[in-house]
Parts: sequence; structure tokens; C-alpha cells
Amino acid sequence: MPVNVFLNGRYCEEHEAMVSVDDRGFLFGDGVYEVIRCYRGALFKLQEHLSRFARSAAGIDLVLPYSAEEIAAICKTLLDKSGTKNGMLYMQVTRGSAPRTHEFPSVVTPTIMMKVREIDEQFFREKKKGVSVLTVPDERWEHCDIKSLNLLPNVLAKQKARSQGFHEAVFIHEPGVTECASSNIFIVTGGTVVTAPEGNRILSGITREVVLKLAGEAGIPCELRYPQKNELYKAEEVFFSNTVEEIIPVLAVDGNVINQGKPGNITLRLQEMFKKLVDIETS
Ligand code: PLP
Repeated sequence: MPVNVFLNGRYCEEHEAMVSVDDRGFLFGDGVYEVIRCYRGALFKLQEHLSRFARSAAGIDLVLPYSAEEIAAICKTLLDKSGTKNGMLYMQVTRGSAPRTHEFPSVVTPTIMMKVREIDEQFFREKKKGVSVLTVPDERWEHCDIKSLNLLPNVLAKQKARSQGFHEAVFIHEPGVTECASSNIFIVTGGTVVTAPEGNRILSGITREVVLKLAGEAGIPCELRYPQKNELYKAEEVFFSNTVEEIIPVLAVDGNVINQGKPGNITLRLQEMFKKLVDIETS
């Protein structure tokens, strides 16, 4: 078994990694996490992910046990030790382990864990041709910008979508279409790329940021506002983005076919630009 886990200062094999039953991540979801892609053994947008990790931790008053530089070094060492080339690194920090009380324990040491694994490239290549999605009510809390371990509404939304044969669940909240269970969503209308603005209703995706930058470079106009549900149905193109899946065309929303069931030109262009950027930054 390869060494693929880092836990509280120690690199080890997965079966050697043990966390207390009193860990507040386990009991309360009292922690935050990150997911980072690696290509050819190099971590993509590492600094951006580490900045968001620090913001998420600060958002729940959790002091990280290491500096950003130390965490970056641990990520790279773990990746090297595991021998992973194309995969993902999952990182989470919890407030730590202490007898169960809702309030923060007066003395507690955070639990920090990282795990790497290879990615099934073939699975994602298929999805890049397009998927269908289901809209669901956004029943999450008011701090969706914090990448917290409390993912139950996301888990239930994704399960609802998957159990009905849809790939992703799209959240609808009061201002409109917010994001998806594990991705940011974009529509193209009148040639403009539209996606929800940063704020407490969405997780500010690292891939979303890259998509907006690439669209800008390509001269494609972008607008930050909440698309309405009927706009989603009638859009010229729809796609979503996240770290693991990158950019995925949406070919139908609640059974309404988009762009005659084919990925749109802007989506394809952005997919191509994204691939080039990854190649440049990780080779
Ligand atoms: N929104 C949610 C709710 C997510 O869980 C994710 C990723 O998991 C994203 C958006 C996309 O973020 P990123 O591009 O940083 O992976």
C-alpha cells in the first residue's frame, strides 16, 4: 500500500490513519476542507486553494495548525510520496478532539488530514461530452462561501439528482440560480456568460475564477448576476465547473434540452482554453 495520507504531522498508509471518535469533525462537521487537482504530479492552482482554505478556517474561527507555506510543502511531499500523477488531494481540518460540547472546548488541537488518490480519467472524459441536471431548492445555510464539512443539503440534493438519472443538482434560491451541489453553474444568453456573483450564497470556485478569466481573455462578455430558472431552460448554453470535473457541458435542465443536446461553442472553447492552461501550468 502506498503512503497516501498525512495526519497530524505524520505521513502514513490509509489503514494506519486513525482519528478519535470525539473528533468534532465527526460529531459536528466542525471543520473545513479543500480539494486540489494534480496533473502530471503537479498541484494546479495550489496557492488559490490554500488562500480559500485559510478563509474558510477563519470563517469558523479555527486557527490553522500550519502556515500556508508549511501546508504547501506538506501537500507536495505527500503527492511525491504517494507517486500520484493525475489525481486529487483532499485536505481537511477540524477543530479537534474533545469531550462533546457544542461550544468550543477551551483546550483543543486541530486535526489536519490530507489524502491523495488517482483519478479515473476515462470517467471524466465521458462526462465532458455533456450531462443532464435537475433543479432543487437551495436549503443550505447563509454561509455557502465557507467550504465547510457540513454538506448534508448538498449530499441530499446530489443523491436526489443521481437517483433520478441526473448528474448534478442545481440549487434555486430566492435571487435565482445559485450554484450546484458540488460545482458553479454558468449560462450563455445573448452570447454573454452569466453566473452568480461571489457572496454568501455560493462557494467562490477556483475553477469559476479561471473560467471567468479565460472568457475575458477570449473577449467573451461576462455578467455576474443570478440567472433565473426560466433563463436556464432557454439558455443558448449551460455548463458547470469544479476542480475535479473541470468544465462540463449541460445538455438538459429538468428535461428541457439545451442547444439541441450538444455542447455549445463557448463551452467547447472554454474547455479547450482550460486544458491549455493546465498544460502550461503543470508541465
Ligand atoms: N460550489 C460547491 C458547492 C462546491 O462544492 C464546489 C466544489 O466542490 C464548487 C462550487 C466548485 O469549486 P472549485 O472550482 O473550487 O472546485
